[in-house]
Amino acid sequence: MVPGEENQLVPKEIENAAEEPRVLCIIQDTTNSKTVNERITLNLPASTPLRKLFEDVASKVGYVNGTFDLVWGNGINAADMAPLDHTSEKSLLDTNFEPGKKNFLHLTDKDGEQPQIVSEDTSTTDDSVQDRFIGPLPREGSVGSTSDYVSQSYSYSSILSKSETGYVGLVNQAMTCYLNSLLQTLFMTPEFRNALYKWEFEESEEDPVTSIPYQLQRLFVLLQTSKKRAIETTDVTRSFGWDSSEAWQQHDVQELCRVMFDALEQKWKQTEQADLINELYQGKLKDYVRCLECGYEGWRIDTYLDIPLVIRPYGSSQAFASVEEALHAFIQPEILDGPNQYFCERCKKKCDARKGLRFLHFPYLLTLQLKRFDFDYTTMHRIKLNDRMTFPEELDMSTFIDVEDENSLLYELFSVMVHSGSAAGGHYYACIKSFSDEQWYSFNDQHVSRITQEDIKKTHGGSSGSRGYYSSAFASSTNAYMLIYRLKDPSRNAKFLEVNDYPEHIKNLVQKEKELEEQEKRQREIERNTCKIKLFCMHPVKQVMMENKLEVHKDKTLKEAVEIAYKMMDLEEVIPLDCCRLVKYDEFHDYLERSYEGEEDTPMGLLLGGVKSTYMFDLLLETRKPDQVFQSYKPGEVMVKVHVVDIKTESVAPPVSIRAYLNQTVTEFKQLISKTIHLPAETMRIVLERCYNDLRLLNVPSKTLKAEGFFRSNKVFVESSESLDRQMAFTDSHLWKLLDRHANTIRLFVLLPEQSPGSHSKRTAYPKAGGDSGHVDDACERGKGPLGSLKSVEAILEESTEKLKSLSLQQHQDGDNGDSSKSTETSDFENIESPLNERDSSGSVDNRELEQQIQTSDPENFQSEERSDSDMNNDRSTSSVDSDILSSSHSSDTLCNADSAPVPLANGLDSHSITSSRRSKANEGKKETWDTAEEDSGTDSEYDESGKSRAETQYMYFKAESYAADEGSGEGHKWLMVHVDKRITLAAFKQHLEPFVGVLSSHFKVFRVYASNQEFESVRLNETLSSFSDDNKITIRLGRALKKGEYRVKVYQLLVNEQEPCRFLLDAVFAKGMTVRQSKEELLPQLREQCGLELSIDRFRLRKKTWKNPGTVFLDYHVYEEDINISSNWEVFLEALDGVEKMKSMSQLAVLSRRWRPSEMRLDPFQEVVLESSSVDELREKLCEISGIPLEDIEFAKGRGTFPCDISVLEIHQDLDWNPKVSTLNVWPLYICDDGAVIFYRDKTEEIMELTDEQRNELMKKESSRLQKTGHRVTYSPRKEKALKIYLDGAPNKDLAQD
Ligand SMILES: [Zn+2]
Repeated sequence: MVPGEENQLVPKEIENAAEEPRVLCIIQDTTNSKTVNERITLNLPASTPLRKLFEDVASKVGYVNGTFDLVWGNGINAADMAPLDHTSEKSLLDTNFEPGKKNFLHLTDKDGEQPQIVSEDTSTTDDSVQDRFIGPLPREGSVGSTSDYVSQSYSYSSILSKSETGYVGLVNQAMTCYLNSLLQTLFMTPEFRNALYKWEFEESEEDPVTSIPYQLQRLFVLLQTSKKRAIETTDVTRSFGWDSSEAWQQHDVQELCRVMFDALEQKWKQTEQADLINELYQGKLKDYVRCLECGYEGWRIDTYLDIPLVIRPYGSSQAFASVEEALHAFIQPEILDGPNQYFCERCKKKCDARKGLRFLHFPYLLTLQLKRFDFDYTTMHRIKLNDRMTFPEELDMSTFIDVEDENSLLYELFSVMVHSGSAAGGHYYACIKSFSDEQWYSFNDQHVSRITQEDIKKTHGGSSGSRGYYSSAFASSTNAYMLIYRLKDPSRNAKFLEVNDYPEHIKNLVQKEKELEEQEKRQREIERNTCKIKLFCMHPVKQVMMENKLEVHKDKTLKEAVEIAYKMMDLEEVIPLDCCRLVKYDEFHDYLERSYEGEEDTPMGLLLGGVKSTYMFDLLLETRKPDQVFQSYKPGEVMVKVHVVDIKTESVAPPVSIRAYLNQTVTEFKQLISKTIHLPAETMRIVLERCYNDLRLLNVPSKTLKAEGFFRSNKVFVESSESLDRQMAFTDSHLWKLLDRHANTIRLFVLLPEQSPGSHSKRTAYPKAGGDSGHVDDACERGKGPLGSLKSVEAILEESTEKLKSLSLQQHQDGDNGDSSKSTETSDFENIESPLNERDSSGSVDNRELEQQIQTSDPENFQSEERSDSDMNNDRSTSSVDSDILSSSHSSDTLCNADSAPVPLANGLDSHSITSSRRSKANEGKKETWDTAEEDSGTDSEYDESGKSRAETQYMYFKAESYAADEGSGEGHKWLMVHVDKRITLAAFKQHLEPFVGVLSSHFKVFRVYASNQEFESVRLNETLSSFSDDNKITIRLGRALKKGEYRVKVYQLLVNEQEPCRFLLDAVFAKGMTVRQSKEELLPQLREQCGLELSIDRFRLRKKTWKNPGTVFLDYHVYEEDINISSNWEVFLEALDGVEKMKSMSQLAVLSRRWRPSEMRLDPFQEVVLESSSVDELREKLCEISGIPLEDIEFAKGRGTFPCDISVLEIHQDLDWNPKVSTLNVWPLYICDDGAVIFYRDKTEEIMELTDEQRNELMKKESSRLQKTGHRVTYSPRKEKALKIYLDGAPNKDLAQD
């Protein structure tokens, strides 16, 4: 057997390409059922360009090149599903073809259009094909498959065979069932299509989207002209507004017809086609009853669009054999006798009668509906009858009509709508005969294929001819459910309009749709030729990594792509274009894979390896300074970022990039670095940072970098000094400590208050001790520093507190003339010169690295404290926690009692204690207090002097420099860029910041700024900064920082009778263990100074605030955190009193009463009533007392909703639950258990005011505007709300009437 030329594996021109491998391509043409089983084989040299492969394929299969796609077949390269590029000059080898192997390809449609066949006649070019309308595409031997359409599941070949017909399919929308069958039938009806084309859409008159006729017209034009295999019906279904699958299931095909026809009739009203739908589709019949005694006939004329034919006669198990039989049965009269006798109007009695239907007129297009869907009353299920029922291709209807008519009534079948499946679901398609070529086609969604007469017969249903009882059960489920016949009448039978006969507007529409399709195609073409790849760029000035998506046509050169990237990254104003280049980059590993020297004119498609949806790599737009040169990056190199470490200055330099090879030894690598960075290789130590904090000293000279764990991108630290540090074990070395610190150092941006000296003042609180190790004792440092001889931090705190107090007073007085816009929070401290500031004028050293020894917690001290507690032995409750409470309550105490002597803060128990009486109670359980100042640690490192000695020392790195933030962050703001070891405690961090803020750390607050600029105060002094990360922002605000057990509290004034009963007064600090009385005392001066409120201690109270509701009145002896729970950002009401506080005990109850005066339609202001018990009698007595209403006439009701329980005066009299039948307030339905409840009361003898309609309307308006202001909902009653809802839902009026 001689193999065909194309199967030859051995190249013929061996002498030309002795070395050249060849590529065997096996191509399967999947666009055509005839060809799908054939294979085209091509054996080409591996260097053949892809373009040439396409040309060869095109000539072999006889398609116009460019009208088909080639995609990878099963097996090789299956992952890359994108079609190959028919214009590519890349060789097969470079396109992933494998030499010496079988390369499988599929030839497919391009953009949903079938390939164009090269015409024999060279004069008919592409254009002639475009203008082709309906009709089968001439193709040799293209006889369609004849059996595939009946199958519900499409075989591979059935998909392929369709569009050879030249007809366009419709994409199945999955929910629209019979729609496609109906649309194709209407399209294939010449009279309907022509009529639809005659109508012209007026865009000015209606929305094209909702115009059914217009969308139908567009669809028809597309069905005629589209080069796609199938088109979408979404625009048509949208015009129907049936946009759910339910909608399609609820309506049947008749209904769809009706809707469509109605829409058309509406449009055609004033045109010559006004009655066209009726003429085409509407028949007439007579429904009659004839008295068999006197012959009198009663009748009614009905019209119909289709004739419904039952499959089985009622009560019969046997189906009608044919539609003719069923039609006869349809007009077969029934006799009404016996109990069914008919009342004859002429005979005036019940008579036997004959009842039936008579056809009077058959429409031009006759629709027979086969009622295959039925309801089985024995099983109560919807069923489908699959019985056989034949129908003729020609149907003579003259036998079914009485009227003598010389015209022929011979009908010709042209559409069979088929359902395949059960009543529960299935598939719909249509068999339609074309009136242009008398050929039958199956229109099965996107697939159109030629079929035969035999295929039509298969839709008769049943199983091959048998008519037995069981025929249905064993029958095929694929059968006709609707038949459409056309009257054979040469005078009326129309042909489809020729293109030349189209009305102008259809010609325009055709043009428009064609352009749209072309435009989409062009867009797809562009998409197909566009490489989309991630692009990164480190901004040369801002030093931030920018990310973008580079979209570049595959034919653009690298040079052009650089320019696109350059503009995309907005570098035009920053650096010149020739300082940029694109390099292959791996963002994940931050690895520069290769550069593209000498490839400036190479197309990007080639450089990137084709157009792909995703790439396994990225691009980096690399920049250089004008005096630098770009390095060449070769593939296979690894990247090393080298940080030079200077042990002396303890600095770590920014990285220098070096490229190395994985098989280099450590020694070779050292030499490489030595050459680049000019450090002696002999003394060089290299440390590789593998993961976070995993530091590895490269100390085996012969090991390769690969063995040491180098990967694509690496970070090393290099040190080369003569220092002795080299001889130490690495983890003990100074280098290690330095790197460890470096790894833990984060960069923070700190916004300083305006008044702070910032860093510009060149103040440094702690000049660095000269030269040596930098281990400077904190206390020593301070001693030598600007603060002079310092006793303790606490002492300073006390001192400055005193100072602040006096200053703040003074400042407030000054402030009256000054800037009043400053926030109350900072005003206290605005102009204060802190002790630090005053003394620090001599600060001489610029900001530089500061390294300090900070005391950390002292475990021994902690233990001794506990021991002392138990020695004193009150109970176990006196734990460290308790002592914290004491110390903090103590310190706040000293703060407010300026004249009491400062008591040294101690961890032990303290005599000066307001809390001693409640200590056991305080320790019942340690509360979750994350939001208060630090109190979970046993020690107090910040203020504790004695714990210092035995503390383990740690090097805490802190370096701050001024930073010019972006514009927009506000002029005059001072920013610090701080590099700090995140293991530092907040307390130490704050101390470092002191010189920059200009006040002691106890007098400023640290707020962490989160995304969306939310700020939260950081208060836990013993906690480290480990939760912070690089580039976090911090705002410093002046103001007393919270100490342990302290809470920031927002104080609001409660003004019950004001329009806005809740007014913010000030921020205050309350401490755990403080009594309400003490907090009130502290508040007094602040109220006076900040709010101008002159109150005396017994003329105001604090009470619980829940949103705007006043709650429990706090009694003077209540203790925070014991009797009263506080939380962070706690809010409290302050209420000024007219007289002395009556609330003295917890058993009392303060309610807010309000008198309702029905005769005036008016409410009195609120008035507080203090009850000694929860007794209703007492309430009534008290109300009687304050109002003068006789006790027996008092009626009361609880207010609804939240304070102030607003209610319309038009509703209050009826709508409130007046006089509840209870004797105490704390039971249902009142449930008044806490202070602040609202009670309305009235005199029951008081008559309600008579209102005229006008007055009522006036009042209604007034009340409605009043209540809207307070957010009150006008309707409360369920009855009214229901009515409102019905109204809003637009329910019919009868619902309202029923209501
Ligand atoms: Zn009669």
